Amino acid sequence: MKKIKYIIISALMLQLFGCKTDTKNADNGQLNVVTTTTMITDLLQNIGGNAINVVGLMGSGVDPHLYKASEGDVSKLVNADVVFYGGLHLEGKLVEVFEKMEKTGKKAIAVSNALDKKELIGSEYFASNYDPHIWFNVTFWKQITTYVTNELKKADPQNASVFEKNSNKYLEDLTKLDAEVRAKINELPKDKRILVTAHDAFNYFGNTYGFNVVGLQGISTATEAGVQDVQELSKFIIDNKVKAIFVESSVPKRTIEALQASVKSKHHDVAIGGTLYSDALGDKGSVEGTYIGMFKYNVTTIVNALK
Ligand SMILES: [Zn+2]
Repeated sequence: MKKIKYIIISALMLQLFGCKTDTKNADNGQLNVVTTTTMITDLLQNIGGNAINVVGLMGSGVDPHLYKASEGDVSKLVNADVVFYGGLHLEGKLVEVFEKMEKTGKKAIAVSNALDKKELIGSEYFASNYDPHIWFNVTFWKQITTYVTNELKKADPQNASVFEKNSNKYLEDLTKLDAEVRAKINELPKDKRILVTAHDAFNYFGNTYGFNVVGLQGISTATEAGVQDVQELSKFIIDNKVKAIFVESSVPKRTIEALQASVKSKHHDVAIGGTLYSDALGDKGSVEGTYIGMFKYNVTTIVNALK
């Protein structure tokens, strides 16, 4: 495996840095944009519309913390005019590739560049020292929308007015989303705003919308939850009369099921309130397959289960 990885990386570096290809791809005349997570893919599709070609590396249900580049990904990256990724070590196994791309002038842009570091939540779990789950603050996502729009305009000035128009419409939709989310959360009494999930993806969500967020697995799925964590958290659930805990679509169920079993062993009950989309959107074509649909679905699921 090591050897294959080495060959892929070498081939990628050779192709990326061997020649300069900053002109638009010739096959269809459209800007070729490659993205990592489904949230970023959805954002680029909203801003770019039909004017650009967007290729997402990760599908629904894929965990970005553990994702490794395949050979197919390498050729997609090589053919890209611009690459957008999350940054802050969200894509832990791809960091090296993107940083090298950036340094050598091949456009690889971390969307987290849009944000002021002072507004970010610190984290010892990531080499970046920041929590990378920035999409769970709609205001951040709006700032990222504006940043990405400007980068697209630079990469493809001919379509600047298209990007601008799409972006303005999308920013309005995000403003509406934020208001809807806040209204829904207001249905839930403040003392019931406790969100227990498999991993700590929801800290920005908690900060922004007033939830106490507790993740079983730490902030990255790369570290497993231990017996001690399960015991402590089950006690917390009982003490705080938490009605429901949540599974995540991109993290195996077993950690949350172990937590539920631990609560039961102490003669208490906690429901599994549903599956939340944390690090990946739902299936393509479904409502939850868009950022806005995912956000509304998560909030409805959380509020209804904790009420
Ligand atoms: Zn995560």
